Amino acid sequence: MYDCIIIGGGPAGAAAAVYAARKKLKALFIAESIGGQSVVSESIENWIGEKSISGFDLGKKLEDHVRAQEGIDIKVSERVTAVAEDGDGFSVTSASGTTYQAKTVLVVTGGRRRKLNVPGEDAFLGKGVAYWAT
Ligand SMILES: Cc1cc2nc3c(=O)[nH]c(=O)nc-3n(C[C@H](O)[C@H](O)[C@H](O)COP(=O)(O)OP(=O)(O)OC[C@H]3O[C@@H](n4cnc5c(N)ncnc54)[C@H](O)[C@@H]3O)c2cc1C
Repeated sequence: MYDCIIIGGGPAGAAAAVYAARKKLKALFIAESIGGQSVVSESIENWIGEKSISGFDLGKKLEDHVRAQEGIDIKVSERVTAVAEDGDGFSVTSASGTTYQAKTVLVVTGGRRRKLNVPGEDAFLGKGVAYWAT
Protein backbone atom coordinates (compact mmCIF):
# COMPACT_ATOMS: atom_id res chain seq x y z
CA MET A 1 0.00 0.00 0.00
CA TYR A 2 1.55 3.29 -1.15
CA ASP A 3 0.85 6.62 0.51
CA CYS A 4 0.56 8.15 -2.94
CA ILE A 5 0.62 7.09 -6.58
CA ILE A 6 1.64 9.83 -9.03
CA ILE A 7 0.35 9.17 -12.55
CA GLY A 8 2.21 11.22 -15.19
CA GLY A 9 5.81 12.06 -15.98
CA GLY A 10 5.68 15.68 -17.09
CA PRO A 11 6.77 18.72 -15.06
CA ALA A 12 3.78 18.34 -12.70
CA GLY A 13 4.47 14.65 -12.03
CA ALA A 14 8.19 15.25 -11.57
CA ALA A 15 7.52 18.06 -9.09
CA ALA A 16 5.07 15.85 -7.19
CA ALA A 17 7.68 13.06 -6.99
CA VAL A 18 10.29 15.43 -5.56
CA TYR A 19 7.87 16.75 -2.96
CA ALA A 20 6.67 13.24 -2.04
CA ALA A 21 10.27 12.17 -1.44
CA ARG A 22 11.00 15.27 0.63
CA LYS A 23 7.99 14.46 2.84
CA LYS A 24 9.17 10.83 3.04
CA LEU A 25 5.96 9.45 1.55
CA LYS A 26 5.99 5.90 0.23
CA ALA A 27 5.23 6.85 -3.36
CA LEU A 28 4.96 5.25 -6.80
CA PHE A 29 5.70 7.39 -9.88
CA ILE A 30 4.13 5.81 -12.93
CA ALA A 31 4.28 7.29 -16.44
CA GLU A 32 4.11 6.36 -20.07
CA SER A 33 7.16 8.57 -20.58
CA ILE A 34 9.18 11.13 -18.63
CA GLY A 35 9.56 14.71 -19.77
CA GLY A 36 6.07 15.68 -20.76
CA GLN A 37 4.54 17.12 -23.87
CA SER A 38 7.20 19.76 -24.60
CA VAL A 39 10.05 17.25 -25.15
CA VAL A 40 9.74 17.96 -28.86
CA SER A 41 10.18 21.72 -28.39
CA GLU A 42 13.34 23.26 -29.84
CA SER A 43 13.60 26.00 -27.24
CA ILE A 44 11.74 26.74 -24.01
CA GLU A 45 12.40 30.27 -22.83
CA ASN A 46 10.16 30.65 -19.78
CA TRP A 47 11.57 27.88 -17.56
CA ILE A 48 12.90 30.17 -14.87
CA GLY A 49 16.60 29.66 -14.21
CA GLU A 50 17.37 28.73 -17.83
CA LYS A 51 17.41 31.42 -20.54
CA SER A 52 16.76 28.76 -23.14
CA ILE A 53 16.56 24.99 -22.91
CA SER A 54 15.39 22.41 -25.42
CA GLY A 55 12.41 20.29 -24.46
CA PHE A 56 14.62 17.20 -24.70
CA ASP A 57 17.19 18.61 -22.25
CA LEU A 58 14.49 19.79 -19.87
CA GLY A 59 12.90 16.33 -19.97
CA LYS A 60 16.27 14.74 -19.19
CA LYS A 61 16.75 17.10 -16.23
CA LEU A 62 13.30 16.25 -14.92
CA GLU A 63 14.09 12.55 -15.23
CA ASP A 64 17.45 12.92 -13.45
CA HIS A 65 15.79 14.87 -10.64
CA VAL A 66 13.08 12.22 -10.17
CA ARG A 67 15.58 9.35 -10.28
CA ALA A 68 17.75 11.08 -7.65
CA GLN A 69 14.93 10.86 -5.09
CA GLU A 70 15.16 8.20 -2.41
CA GLY A 71 12.18 6.06 -1.53
CA ILE A 72 10.21 6.61 -4.74
CA ASP A 73 9.33 3.59 -6.87
CA ILE A 74 9.52 4.47 -10.56
CA LYS A 75 7.68 2.72 -13.38
CA VAL A 76 8.17 4.20 -16.83
CA SER A 77 6.69 2.98 -20.14
CA GLU A 78 3.59 1.95 -18.27
CA ARG A 79 0.19 3.36 -19.22
CA VAL A 80 -2.46 3.55 -16.52
CA THR A 81 -5.77 2.25 -17.79
CA ALA A 82 -7.95 2.40 -14.68
CA VAL A 83 -8.20 4.10 -11.31
CA ALA A 84 -10.88 2.92 -8.89
CA GLU A 85 -11.86 3.51 -5.30
CA ASP A 86 -10.90 0.50 -3.25
CA GLY A 87 -11.76 0.34 0.45
CA ASP A 88 -10.01 3.24 2.20
CA GLY A 89 -7.85 4.01 -0.84
CA PHE A 90 -7.54 3.48 -4.57
CA SER A 91 -6.38 0.81 -6.96
CA VAL A 92 -4.47 1.80 -10.08
CA THR A 93 -4.21 -0.65 -12.97
CA SER A 94 -1.73 -0.42 -15.83
CA ALA A 95 -1.92 -1.78 -19.38
CA SER A 96 0.36 -4.66 -18.35
CA GLY A 97 -2.42 -5.78 -16.00
CA THR A 98 -0.53 -4.91 -12.81
CA THR A 99 -2.57 -3.33 -10.02
CA TYR A 100 -1.14 -1.03 -7.35
CA GLN A 101 -2.84 0.19 -4.18
CA ALA A 102 -2.51 3.61 -2.56
CA LYS A 103 -4.14 5.84 0.01
CA THR A 104 -4.11 8.75 -2.44
CA VAL A 105 -3.70 9.19 -6.20
CA LEU A 106 -2.44 12.23 -8.06
CA VAL A 107 -3.48 12.31 -11.72
CA VAL A 108 -1.10 14.62 -13.60
CA THR A 109 -1.54 13.25 -17.09
CA GLY A 110 -1.39 16.62 -18.79
CA GLY A 111 -3.36 17.37 -21.90
CA ARG A 112 -3.58 16.62 -25.56
CA ARG A 113 -4.06 19.08 -28.40
CA ARG A 114 -7.59 19.40 -29.66
CA LYS A 115 -7.36 19.00 -33.40
CA LEU A 116 -9.42 20.83 -35.99
CA ASN A 117 -9.56 17.71 -38.19
CA VAL A 118 -9.12 19.70 -41.39
CA PRO A 119 -7.33 18.47 -44.53
CA GLY A 120 -3.55 18.88 -44.34
CA GLU A 121 -3.45 19.28 -40.56
CA ASP A 122 -1.34 16.17 -39.97
CA ALA A 123 0.76 16.51 -43.15
CA PHE A 124 1.77 20.08 -42.29
CA LEU A 125 2.32 19.59 -38.56
CA GLY A 126 5.60 21.34 -37.72
CA LYS A 127 5.72 22.82 -41.23
CA GLY A 128 3.31 25.68 -40.70
CA VAL A 129 0.69 24.05 -38.50
CA ALA A 130 1.36 24.60 -34.78
CA TYR A 131 -0.62 24.42 -31.55
CA TRP A 132 -0.43 26.90 -28.71
CA ALA A 133 -2.36 26.96 -25.44
CA THR A 134 -3.12 30.68 -25.53
C1 LIG B 1 5.57 21.56 -28.60
C2 LIG B 1 5.25 22.16 -27.24
C3 LIG B 1 6.00 23.24 -26.80
C4 LIG B 1 5.74 23.80 -25.56
N1 LIG B 1 6.49 24.86 -25.16
C5 LIG B 1 6.25 25.44 -23.97
C6 LIG B 1 7.04 26.56 -23.54
O1 LIG B 1 7.94 27.02 -24.24
N2 LIG B 1 6.73 27.10 -22.33
C7 LIG B 1 5.71 26.61 -21.54
O2 LIG B 1 5.48 27.16 -20.46
N3 LIG B 1 4.96 25.57 -21.93
C8 LIG B 1 5.20 24.99 -23.11
N4 LIG B 1 4.42 23.94 -23.52
C9 LIG B 1 3.36 23.47 -22.63
C10 LIG B 1 3.97 22.56 -21.54
O3 LIG B 1 4.73 21.54 -22.15
C11 LIG B 1 2.84 21.96 -20.68
O4 LIG B 1 2.11 23.00 -20.06
C12 LIG B 1 3.41 21.05 -19.60
O5 LIG B 1 4.20 20.01 -20.17
C13 LIG B 1 2.30 20.42 -18.79
O6 LIG B 1 2.91 19.60 -17.83
P1 LIG B 1 2.14 18.41 -17.14
O7 LIG B 1 3.11 17.72 -16.23
O8 LIG B 1 0.88 18.94 -16.55
O9 LIG B 1 1.67 17.42 -18.30
P2 LIG B 1 2.42 16.79 -19.57
O10 LIG B 1 3.69 17.48 -19.86
O11 LIG B 1 1.39 16.68 -20.64
O12 LIG B 1 2.79 15.34 -19.05
C14 LIG B 1 1.80 14.33 -18.95
C15 LIG B 1 2.49 13.04 -18.56
O13 LIG B 1 1.51 12.06 -18.27
C16 LIG B 1 1.83 10.86 -18.96
N5 LIG B 1 0.58 10.15 -19.18
C17 LIG B 1 -0.52 10.59 -19.86
N6 LIG B 1 -1.50 9.65 -19.79
C18 LIG B 1 -0.99 8.62 -19.04
C19 LIG B 1 -1.50 7.37 -18.60
N7 LIG B 1 -2.75 6.97 -18.89
N8 LIG B 1 -0.70 6.54 -17.86
C20 LIG B 1 0.56 6.93 -17.54
N9 LIG B 1 1.10 8.12 -17.91
C21 LIG B 1 0.32 8.94 -18.65
C22 LIG B 1 2.55 11.30 -20.22
O14 LIG B 1 3.34 10.25 -20.73
C23 LIG B 1 3.39 12.44 -19.65
O15 LIG B 1 4.54 11.92 -19.02
C24 LIG B 1 4.67 23.32 -24.74
C25 LIG B 1 3.92 22.23 -25.19
C26 LIG B 1 4.20 21.65 -26.41
C27 LIG B 1 3.39 20.47 -26.88
